[in-house]
Amino acid sequence: MRALILGGTREARDLAKRLVEAGDDVVSSLAGRVKNPALPAGEVRIGGFGGPEGLAAWIKDNNIDILIDATHPFAEKISRSAATATATTGTPLVLLHRPAWEKQPGEKWIEVSSMDEAAAEASTFGTVLLTIGRQKLASFAPYAATHFVIRCVDEPEVALPPDHEIIYSRGPFTEEGEEQLQRESRVQALVTKNSGGGLTHAKLIAAKKLGIPVIIVQRPPLPALEDTSKRPVRVTHTADEAFDALATLRKSGKPSRG
Ligand code: NAP
Repeated sequence: MRALILGGTREARDLAKRLVEAGDDVVSSLAGRVKNPALPAGEVRIGGFGGPEGLAAWIKDNNIDILIDATHPFAEKISRSAATATATTGTPLVLLHRPAWEKQPGEKWIEVSSMDEAAAEASTFGTVLLTIGRQKLASFAPYAATHFVIRCVDEPEVALPPDHEIIYSRGPFTEEGEEQLQRESRVQALVTKNSGGGLTHAKLIAAKKLGIPVIIVQRPPLPALEDTSKRPVRVTHTADEAFDALATLRKSGKPSRG
């Protein structure tokens, strides 16, 4: 069975590794956002497909039997493409959707539903650490009275708030490192997406220890899965669960290509 993993996450890399080790034919797809991405095991392709139609064509042209959407929970567009393209081509779809973080006792969460809302909340603090990547930084640009400490992997290409510093860094991060950063930068609030997972969780532990509020952007809903009679769909939460779902789908017979 030839599998396409839509990746860019730790879980996607874990799954690719397991499938390659099991001798499966797997190709991972990355958007190409970061300059030096962590590369998964096996074949890799980089760049957008050109919407759902482009993805559907790619699935057919490359003899893909099954698609795993293991993208980040905030990567809404590609997940919608995956849902539509698998429905139109009849390709089985496995969603690998990592669980959200849940508020722990002692954590001070300010829950918001958008980055603009997060920015408005952040502007009520003097110094704010932004750990949201670089794509949505423009939401903070209007706020001149707050000092923003921006942590990201590559150089931002959008409007930035006037009073900012940038720390280039890539996870995973340790609790000690996160505590040191928040303490030394005199951070009064932290902004994060509710990404879930272990790679970037240490900042929440550090913020709790230091009594720092966390402005947390809640997740978008899962993509609408369209007509589920058109192909099997499995929703999983870890690379192991996804691996097992693939094994079950494989046992139920090699899916026909659309
Ligand atoms: P997005 O808004 O859902 O996607 C925008 C466009 O980028 C898509 O329409 C698609 O272009 C292309 N694309 C996205 N992911 C792709 C993939 N894995 N392979 C090929 N093309 C892809 O996604 P995003 O939020 O920009 O995230 C981009 C990538 O970064 C994803 O792979 C995601 O897993 C990873 N990532 C995102 C975040 C986050 O916070 N959003 C965090 C960590 C990692 P076409 O329409 O042309 O196909």
